[in-house]
Amino acid sequence: MFLKKVEKYRLFNPMEGKEEEVEVEIRFDPLTGKPSRIVKKPLPFTKGSFEEDLKKPCPFCEDVVEKVAARDVEVLGKNLKRKGNSILFANISPYARYSLVIRICKEHYLNLGEFKAEDFYNSFALAVEYLKEISEKIDYATITMNYLKPAGSSVVHPHIQLIASEELMDYQSRIINSARSFYKTHGKQFWEVLSENKEFEDLILSRSKWLWFVPFAPRGFDHVAAYIDKPILEVNEEELKELCEGIVKILKFYSSEYNSFNFGIFGSLKKTPYFGTLFDIVARTPFDKYYWCDVFAITKIYDEAYTNKAPEETAKQLKGFF
Ligand SMILES: [Zn+2]
Repeated sequence: MFLKKVEKYRLFNPMEGKEEEVEVEIRFDPLTGKPSRIVKKPLPFTKGSFEEDLKKPCPFCEDVVEKVAARDVEVLGKNLKRKGNSILFANISPYARYSLVIRICKEHYLNLGEFKAEDFYNSFALAVEYLKEISEKIDYATITMNYLKPAGSSVVHPHIQLIASEELMDYQSRIINSARSFYKTHGKQFWEVLSENKEFEDLILSRSKWLWFVPFAPRGFDHVAAYIDKPILEVNEEELKELCEGIVKILKFYSSEYNSFNFGIFGSLKKTPYFGTLFDIVARTPFDKYYWCDVFAITKIYDEAYTNKAPEETAKQLKGFF
């Protein structure tokens, strides 16, 4: 189930005055087979200042959002939908048949350690309420978050996207096809078998309502995932709360080294025997004025994942937060 290959490269480092051998571990995701390269060498991250970006006019701040937010014509009509400090409205740059934005909180900028579970809860609850309205027309939904420019966000103010498409995204098809064929072969779900596998024990953070784990073949820096065997529409209040609290724990862990991240929640809207709802989160290079982009040719053109730390190390560091 857990395949990996090791390639070693010898180099002379004049700054150290000696040769060193750098190991690249190429691991294959046990569900989809997607490779990930783990270069066990710390990257020179720096967290600098981006004060200028914080001062730019913001479309999601409280006094502006009502005036400028695009309206969802089909379901919400002229209204924005609110729950607590979270606000749901149409995405002015849509990516699918249904494409919305949810402003999470009133605060224009938050350090990763300052995000509140309650704001995520209200935001996800708004997303689920919306999905209930369109559940007859769509089979899967995606909730994504891009925080700060290294994660691809054009707006600083914390917000998430709700994307409900008639077509699966590329890697989502791979997950669904692999999960379906895994179920056919084993008569059990992939995540159930994963959770029971003794070799995977070190990568499990918690078996509560969700299975929280560090993926064997990470898709990015300090990748963490969570899975629940339920369609996203059936996730109850307690389960949604656990998801939000888990996200806050991971962001606290990230906050010492990073300030930027992406997450995705990918859920089926209808009950299937082979797939429920999957959450993935990765840290991105820290934002500063001249930040370094972590998506280069092997990632952008050849779709190859990489990270700079063994997942077992991420899991060891994170266990104190769960
Ligand atoms: Zn703002």
